[in-house]
Parts: sequence; structure tokens; C-alpha cells
Amino acid sequence: MVLRYTYQIDLHCRRCGSRGIADVAQTSDELTNQLLFHVEHVTKGFYVSELTDAAVTTEISCTYCDVFAEQKSHIGEPGG
Ligand SMILES: [Zn+2]
Repeated sequence: MVLRYTYQIDLHCRRCGSRGIADVAQTSDELTNQLLFHVEHVTKGFYVSELTDAAVTTEISCTYCDVFAEQKSHIGEPGG
């Protein structure tokens, strides 16, 4: 059985103050005990600069400044 979780990560560029959201998905395969991570969508102005198999090591950068964005995942929190 494959379990799938989706959540969003708040993106914030400290240099220009730009903000965005990344939609990510984490799938867990119980058969192979393997965790898979991927980014489904990123707000315009940001891009995935380093994609790994885990959220904590995946880096998302600001397109304009070319620096890593501050990433804050929020699960079940109201937006705003
Ligand atoms: Zn920026």
C-alpha cells in the first residue's frame, strides 16, 4: 500500500522579500519501505534549485536573487 501526503511550504526570500508557496507530495511505499518526495508546483518567482528525496534537503531558490528561500512547512494551519 502506498500512502501519500501532500502539504505546502511557505517560501520567503530574505533578500527581496518575495513570498511564495510550494506544493509538495510525500509518498510512502509500505512494500519497499521507501519514501519518495517531489515538488508538484512552485509559485512563479521561485524554482527548485536542488531536488532530493526529502523535504528538508530540497532547496528552493528565488528566481530574481538566485539565493535559497526560507522554507517553512505548514500542515493544517490557516493561510494568511
Ligand atoms: Zn529574492
